[in-house]
Amino acid sequence: MKPLVAIVGRPNVGKSTFFNRMIGKQLAIVEDLPGTTRDRIYGDSDWNGREFTLVDTGGLDLGESDDITRRIRAQVQLAIEEADVIVFIVDAGSGITEADTDVADLLRRSGKPLVLAANKADNAKRRQEAVDFYELGLDEPITMSSSQGTGTGDVLDAIVEALPPSEEEPEEDAEHPRVAIVGRPNVGKSSLVNAVLGQERVIVSEVPGTTRDTIDTVVEHNGHQLTLIDTAGIRRRGRVGPGVEKYSVLRATRAIERCDVAVLLIDATEGITAQDVHIAGAIHEAARGVVVVINKWDLIKAKRAEHRLGLAPPLEDEPPDAQEFKETVKRDLKFLPYAPVIFAAAKTRYHVANILDAALKIAEERTRRIPTAKLNEVVKSAMLRHPPTHVKGRTLRVYYVTQAEISPPTFIFFVNEPELLHFSYERYLENQLRQAFGFEGTAIRLRFRQRERREKGEE
Ligand code: GDP
Ligand code: GDP
Repeated sequence: MKPLVAIVGRPNVGKSTFFNRMIGKQLAIVEDLPGTTRDRIYGDSDWNGREFTLVDTGGLDLGESDDITRRIRAQVQLAIEEADVIVFIVDAGSGITEADTDVADLLRRSGKPLVLAANKADNAKRRQEAVDFYELGLDEPITMSSSQGTGTGDVLDAIVEALPPSEEEPEEDAEHPRVAIVGRPNVGKSSLVNAVLGQERVIVSEVPGTTRDTIDTVVEHNGHQLTLIDTAGIRRRGRVGPGVEKYSVLRATRAIERCDVAVLLIDATEGITAQDVHIAGAIHEAARGVVVVINKWDLIKAKRAEHRLGLAPPLEDEPPDAQEFKETVKRDLKFLPYAPVIFAAAKTRYHVANILDAALKIAEERTRRIPTAKLNEVVKSAMLRHPPTHVKGRTLRVYYVTQAEISPPTFIFFVNEPELLHFSYERYLENQLRQAFGFEGTAIRLRFRQRERREKGEE
């Protein structure tokens, strides 16, 4: 689990410029997929071999308050609660402002590891004047210019130095699958975890120290063990306030990284919201397995019964039935066509066992290996039936396909020219692989590599 580094500071001091410079490289290779978050406020970075996740709290929507001081305070509070290290950015051009002093007080009292960065120190004069920031009483200000890229290495050095010692990652590749329960606040994550813990045998409960924002529990279901990654855990201890919604997406994303299968909870009474789509996009992007759970289905059933009996208030629409809801899922989460959809009620334990069944089945699907001969047979006949179109007089040729990895199943296509591949043809090939081999409930990856020129040369 990567430590979390939060950037705080007044508007316009250069937080997002710094953030983009730090993760720009990674952003550029993010695939352009529907449902994925474009306006990223968090991303991974590394320096001297230490990896961490960076959050730009300035990008968080912390409510409507026009009061700048209050908005910054909310950012800082969240950073203090969630982050391992806080980078406080001030503006070397403007000097200390009242808001800076206010933030400095909060940070000093929190005792959180801190890096004070004086940005916009573009020239020697400003670098000298930055000594004024000693007055904040927060250790040494490090000068940088995010737009020029100078001094940012020193800031990174300081961040890495302030990080908690890198704990040996716990053995994460235990044989049993890891299942993360994710979703927006109030969709029923805690209720589902409680339902599972109430009906399945708990082998190891609340593994401490593995992460700071999730709780792991090993349970047994039908003779199979699985690790439950509970992202709701922290909220039971903590508070709910502005910005928690956004942080919950971040937390979900971090749990997704660690899981084999994500159980994505959706509140049936609210339909599919933008936030749900963001989390679903993160699951797909990470190529994890996924079960879509439409939770609180008991409420929908009750409403539909009212309508049938004529007890519903006039003008009230009848809620969708399962088939109609499935159509909505198909439309709104169309990048997850492979995900099973389960209608459930955590509160009454309705279909909770089915969720675990599905998660275990998907984890197994992810570990399947397709023999190379069979794979090539399927791809060859798919291409004969529906050949790729010509691009500027040239045609994609696939020489050879092999499954390079499991979890997620990853297929390498050795081709004449990867640029000749059209995304619709890639989708066609993926569908053909799924038709032949299944992989229900999990993303699979298709990689296209130019074939080596030297036929017999080593890789
Ligand atoms: P944020 O509101 O804190 O995220 O600030 P931004 O990153 O949006 O930057 C605010 C403005 O300051 C933009 O016009 C940036 O181009 C500018 N800026 C950011 N970093 C620097 C810097 O190091 N030097 C100078 N001169 N301008 C900068
Ligand atoms: P979390 O924030 O995602 O962990 O959500 P909680 O588990 O705390 O649930 C939020 C609210 O929804 C609570 O009041 C639960 O009792 C309620 N709830 C959760 N699951 C169900 C369900 O299946 N049916 C009904 N009727 N209410 C539910």
